[in-house]
Amino acid sequence: MTTGPGHSDDTYKRTKSQGALNWGCFSIKQRRLIGGYLVGCYVVEDFDGDRSGYEHWNYFAMCNHGNKSSGVDTRKDAIDQAKMSMDYCSTCASLFELHKK
Ligand SMILES: [Zn+2]
Repeated sequence: MTTGPGHSDDTYKRTKSQGALNWGCFSIKQRRLIGGYLVGCYVVEDFDGDRSGYEHWNYFAMCNHGNKSSGVDTRKDAIDQAKMSMDYCSTCASLFELHKK
């Protein structure tokens, strides 16, 4: 797991090296509920992918299947969304079903 301050090239370099799909990731973690699959939290203004629909938000979470959560205002909300990737990614939902006891 790698987490650091947002708006930081150093953080973004570290999260990329840990497997983050895009630039702008301030936290990347293997999520236990989905069998250790990676989900990241991103700063909208530093995200180097498609930001359409997120311009008015500060953050979102995105699993490494490339599916994004809804936009949120705070880091804490982004991390909460990172735990819920089964709600916005059908592949994560399948992983969740596979790994739940
Ligand atoms: Zn996913």
